[in-house]
Amino acid sequence: MAKDHSAFPNEDSYDETYGSGDLSTILPKSDFPDAERDPRRIYAAVRDELMLDGNSRQNLATFCQTWEEPEIHQLMDDCIDKNMVDKDEYPQTAEIEARCVRMLADLWNAPDPGNGVGCSTTGSSEAAMLGGLAMKRRWEARRRAEGKPIDKPNLITGPVQICWHKFTRYWDIEHREIPMEDGRLLMTPEEVLARCDENTIGVVPTLGVTFTGEYEPVKAVSDALDDLQARTGLDVPIHVDGASGGFLAPFCAPDLEWDFRLPRVRSINTSGHKFGLAPLGVGWVLWREEQDLPEEMVFWVNYLGGNMRDIALNFSRPGGQIVCQYYNFLRLGRNGYRKIHGACYRSAAFLADEIGKMGPFEIVYDGNPEGGIPAVSWKMKDGAEPGFSLFDLADRLRVRGWQVPAYTLPANCEHQAIQRILVRNGVSFDLCSLLVDHMKDALAHFEAHPIQEPLSKHEASGFHH
Ligand SMILES: *Cc1c(COP(=O)(O)O)cnc(C)c1O
Repeated sequence: MAKDHSAFPNEDSYDETYGSGDLSTILPKSDFPDAERDPRRIYAAVRDELMLDGNSRQNLATFCQTWEEPEIHQLMDDCIDKNMVDKDEYPQTAEIEARCVRMLADLWNAPDPGNGVGCSTTGSSEAAMLGGLAMKRRWEARRRAEGKPIDKPNLITGPVQICWHKFTRYWDIEHREIPMEDGRLLMTPEEVLARCDENTIGVVPTLGVTFTGEYEPVKAVSDALDDLQARTGLDVPIHVDGASGGFLAPFCAPDLEWDFRLPRVRSINTSGHKFGLAPLGVGWVLWREEQDLPEEMVFWVNYLGGNMRDIALNFSRPGGQIVCQYYNFLRLGRNGYRKIHGACYRSAAFLADEIGKMGPFEIVYDGNPEGGIPAVSWKMKDGAEPGFSLFDLADRLRVRGWQVPAYTLPANCEHQAIQRILVRNGVSFDLCSLLVDHMKDALAHFEAHPIQEPLSKHEASGFHH
């Protein structure tokens, strides 16, 4: 029977999705489209394309949150119109940001937490720029007062996250990065002292080094710098990159002295969207006291008839992440954070134990709460020739959707390949046990099908953070 077209005047206006005209063609990829299209169908097409990114929950490379409570999804939606820069138009969002700064000042043992000095940022990278710039300005002010030149500032770090490379390059600062050596993958007080001089604007230890997950020894470095000052008069401040550790150590290693308990620690950055458990797009930078934040970095803005600091590289910026950070502080408290991160540390310890027992691997960092973040890193045992590389293992685990990064270390350990698993909220103990099974499957696969030409770092996809 012939189709009665008159009963379906516009067939394409029905709900059906994948047979529609809109989706029966290749969608534009470069030319700016002319036509309007149906929102529901285009939503389906865009959402489908996102599938090809892989499953973020199985991405064990990222430090960032990939699971959030339903309430956070709801709050993000509620806050889609909040602009952090408009402190006068959204004064309550600004107030919430200020509360978070005070709570962090309390968490990090600032001398006067009720007057916490700091701000939210888009992440630790922007926070590092602001913390670094404050160090540079303080050093410049001191040098000017002494009538000395300010043309050769330098910054001392261990093997750092790329944001510090950006900071030193963008602001014309000599970067004295302490290279790794076999058997020493972190900064030490001796290596720091060997690089200090009158042009050193500061030292940046990292609480949770990107490459292995370990904490650098903030207190030992601080003590050594106290000693340096006593001997030479040089007063070199510390900024702690606590991107991960800033939200871990206070809960899981409370006796570790790394924060404002050490008078030499003048500023700290952290990523709210890492172990702060907020959704992507928030970091924090705090200064110890008001005098540590140079006044010329501050733009005072009106808010609720009062004044509030605006310290930021961005202008417009979404507010939802900050509201969610506040939600997390209220919702979890110290006990909730301790519980969640404690579960991650237990999973990391389990993984370290299992991976250590597999045979070919040597654990570099075992994910203990005093030593670093809930992560495990390992390398091939010296002399082991198991017939595959860590890059092959990463490649094989992708078959089951796992992203377990393998990469080579930075200078002077470029020859050393390493692999790392980051355990964060939502990487459950049970999922870890399945990953262990899949690693064993992979090893059995390589035994049955030895690799003739193991993958090198150049052929492997290079993802680490
Ligand atoms: C992730 C990370 C950064 C960068 O932080 P973002 O929040 O991604 O901008 C800086 N330093 C360390 C140690 C990190 O782990």
